[in-house]
Amino acid sequence: MQRLPGVGPKTAQRLALHIIKRPEAEIEALAKALVEAKKQVGLCQVCFHLSSEPVCEICRNPNRDNGVICVVVDSRDVIALEKTREYKGKYHVLGGVISPIDGIGPEQLTIQALVRRVSQQQPREVILAISPSVEGETTTLYVGQLLKPFTKVTRIAFGLPVGGDLEYADEVTLARALEGRRELE
Ligand SMILES: [Zn+2]
Repeated sequence: MQRLPGVGPKTAQRLALHIIKRPEAEIEALAKALVEAKKQVGLCQVCFHLSSEPVCEICRNPNRDNGVICVVVDSRDVIALEKTREYKGKYHVLGGVISPIDGIGPEQLTIQALVRRVSQQQPREVILAISPSVEGETTTLYVGQLLKPFTKVTRIAFGLPVGGDLEYADEVTLARALEGRRELE
């Protein structure tokens, strides 16, 4: 239980006690539901956002602007940006940031797929919305250099503390960060 996000030792113990008291059939149903959830949720083939379909809802939406791709670290960032209701383009989820210490190089992320997508799709603009930690900065510069030959590359203006995560920024701050984006040098 402690392996679940947000579950510490105390909560784990409480959950364990709860489970012991419940009938076995109920627990089996819960376990089945978890396995089912794992089977159903995959990654979008186009943007790598969480999706129960091969291509996610955002990528399939004909009202979204194909000419802009916003690059984020993970699906939580997509959810945070969607909450602003300001952004009408598409996304690309990297799946992490470049971090040699953790053994994460560009090939562990979806960078290659992004470059392919941008070179084929030729969007007007790619917005890099990666939080400005040391690793985030490295990732922004790396991805930016790769994409510049194909399109205009911008980065969002973070009024956030360094290392601040997109998902913790409120909607107004995020919307402003998007609006104040500037071209990557
Ligand atoms: Zn998608």
